[in-house]
Amino acid sequence: GMKDSAHSFKVADLVIELSLTQKAKPDLNNLIFGTEFTDHMLTIQWSSAGGWQEPHIKPFGNLSLHPACSAMHYAVQLFEGMKVYRGADDKVRLFRPMLNMSRMAKSAERACLPAFDRAELLECIKRLIQLDQEWVPKSDSASLYIRPTFLGTEPSLGVKKPSCALLYVILSPVGSYFSTGAKPVSLWADSKYVRAWKGGTGDCKMGGNYGASIYAQYEALDYGCQQVLWLFGDDHQITEVGTMNVFLFWTNEEGEKELATPPLDGVILPGITRQSILELTRKWGEFKVCERYLTMEDLRRALMESRVEEMFGSGTACVVSPVGRILYQGENLYIPFQEDCPQLASRLNKELTDIQYGRTHSDWSVIV
Ligand code: PMP
Repeated sequence: GMKDSAHSFKVADLVIELSLTQKAKPDLNNLIFGTEFTDHMLTIQWSSAGGWQEPHIKPFGNLSLHPACSAMHYAVQLFEGMKVYRGADDKVRLFRPMLNMSRMAKSAERACLPAFDRAELLECIKRLIQLDQEWVPKSDSASLYIRPTFLGTEPSLGVKKPSCALLYVILSPVGSYFSTGAKPVSLWADSKYVRAWKGGTGDCKMGGNYGASIYAQYEALDYGCQQVLWLFGDDHQITEVGTMNVFLFWTNEEGEKELATPPLDGVILPGITRQSILELTRKWGEFKVCERYLTMEDLRRALMESRVEEMFGSGTACVVSPVGRILYQGENLYIPFQEDCPQLASRLNKELTDIQYGRTHSDWSVIV
């Protein structure tokens, strides 16, 4: 498409104001997701009158927003989630970060927020990480989570395209996402709540999708399950697991060994882990890899006929997370494992984390 660099901020214009104090680094073993933040943040202002301003790196701190701010009233807002990993060689690596930048640009278009040069944003983020690099944990299971955020800051109550916006990036050291570690998760599958719909914003990383999901998440907990299995349509299509994409490794209706995941039809977030798993397994060429619809009835029948090998979620937070049990229409569906160890999920977890932590050389790794 058209080069958007003429209408973007540039890393070359970066203004850096260093923090005068340095916070104590947290204990990696007791990290609660998203509660600790590094010393600096990146902020970039935009207005329709003045275009993009120069990017700033400055001490981490509170924002000051107009009370009519459109992000607050109409959820003109989006975010990204990515990580930077420290290898045993002490190098610090991002995993396919341009995919996050592209997804962010797509979300921005849907939110009527301004376009930006994705490569320039990535370079600004790298500079922020370099400045706070001591915060990238020296660990092969922890990482530094990157949260790019983009807000409409229109200071009026009109429901319209914002005339002002704020893009900012904060960094948060994280340990393992799930308190249960790599143990299989239990899911609550009910058509009562819908995460996303055709023509909606489910394929964009907008805050509203997540805020509206919390109520269902607590109902899942009430039912003794850890996460929601989001269904769609009268035929109860399987779409996503909590904030993960979902995969089924099974023998399909034609008797073929298949790794299946729902297609990107607008209701599903196009996960970077999902894309990576599809690309890796297609390269292996060991079984059929398919983006296809999967209904709860497909799953129930396959379980009855012992055709299911594994089911797992995928995402930046956990890489892959095996599914152990699904509560559906008052019945527990148990996903079997060979020797309690889901082999495909474990293999994918190893291949992906080997790349992320630089144990395997890959052009998916971007050194900061
Ligand atoms: N689905 C949803 C709803 C998510 O929030 C996420 C996390 N970004 C994912 C799937 C997984 O995406 P990714 O692999 O890019 O982390």
